Amino acid sequence: MAADLPPTISVQLVEEPRLLKLKKMFISKFKSTPKFYARAPGRVNLIGEHIDYCGYAVLPMAIEQDILIAAEPLNTPAIHLANTNPLYSDFTTNANNIQINQMEPLWHNYFLCGVKGIEDHFSLDSPSGMNCLVEGTIPPSSGLSSSSALVCCAGLVTLMANGKTLPKVELAELCSKSERYIGTEGGGMDQSICFLAEKGTAKLIEFNPLRATDVRLPEGVAFLIANSCVEMNKAATSHFNIRVMECRLAAKLLAKSRGLDWKAMAKLQEVQVKLKLSLEEMLAVVEEVFHPEPYSIEEIGKNLGISSKELRTQILSQNTQDGCSRNKLNQCMQLMFFNYFKGQCQWGKNVWF
Ligand code: ADP
Ligand code: MG
Repeated sequence: MAADLPPTISVQLVEEPRLLKLKKMFISKFKSTPKFYARAPGRVNLIGEHIDYCGYAVLPMAIEQDILIAAEPLNTPAIHLANTNPLYSDFTTNANNIQINQMEPLWHNYFLCGVKGIEDHFSLDSPSGMNCLVEGTIPPSSGLSSSSALVCCAGLVTLMANGKTLPKVELAELCSKSERYIGTEGGGMDQSICFLAEKGTAKLIEFNPLRATDVRLPEGVAFLIANSCVEMNKAATSHFNIRVMECRLAAKLLAKSRGLDWKAMAKLQEVQVKLKLSLEEMLAVVEEVFHPEPYSIEEIGKNLGISSKELRTQILSQNTQDGCSRNKLNQCMQLMFFNYFKGQCQWGKNVWF
């Protein structure tokens, strides 16, 4: 359905000072004119934890701050990227050879995640090159999802440049997977709200299958987002992935303890569904299965019947396999399991379950 596609609108550039400014910069940079513009918003999560990577529902809304890209498809496979912020250096690559550097997640790698996602999805034989100028107003590494806005916007630009279309839900799912090329194991909230957000409403986002339900915001209400100015670069550190891995290991241990196929399970919600338990009942299982002391990788491996090496290489993400993350993983695990289920149960009473 056309309504499910990302909307395209025609604008008079003279009435859009921001686009006009971007166009002028584009012309001065690439000596040609942008053929289209794409925009993707940042987001704020209105309630609590980021439990999307556990398979649980979240309640984000889009914010005005965004990523805006002026783009021009090329007849050659060259991709030229530039940014209005001089902190982000120019980058050129070949559309036939997209390489994403997880070890050094510079800004262009996020862009390339979006490009690669679309190229792989459509198995493009001769993907279009492009000139792109990026402008962003989302404070980076501040928890407002600048990275996903950049991945989604780059995905959208690549889609357009290659003359393809995809419904918003599919784009959201594709871009959720695409951002993982940079190494972060996100659950899909950020990319989902980026594509599915609508004015005047937050969205209850549920997964598997992905769906978004309007949650009307009270008339006249204003949301104040405070920036602590402490940045956390999610792809350059292991903090984010450690949380995801803690929950993944918890899901596997719970599944194993109940005789489920633990290898096939990576999310706490999947285990809950398989066990057909309420959140309160899951909490009781958590308290029964886990001991209060921190777990070691060796103990978890033993419980699962695999070696520590297998656990690291087959279950953990690249950036949580090494010793650096091990202590943290141990320290946090116990606490995290309980918090996730207790948090969910409380939500159940107060909000929507
Ligand atoms: P966030 O919470 O904002 O998603 P991340 O650490 O996941 O934080 O991603 C931040 C990274 O996204 C930045 O280090 C930068 O590489 C990229 N990024 C964000 N905004 C821009 C921008 N305007 N232009 C280029 N890259 C950006
Ligand atoms: Mg991010």
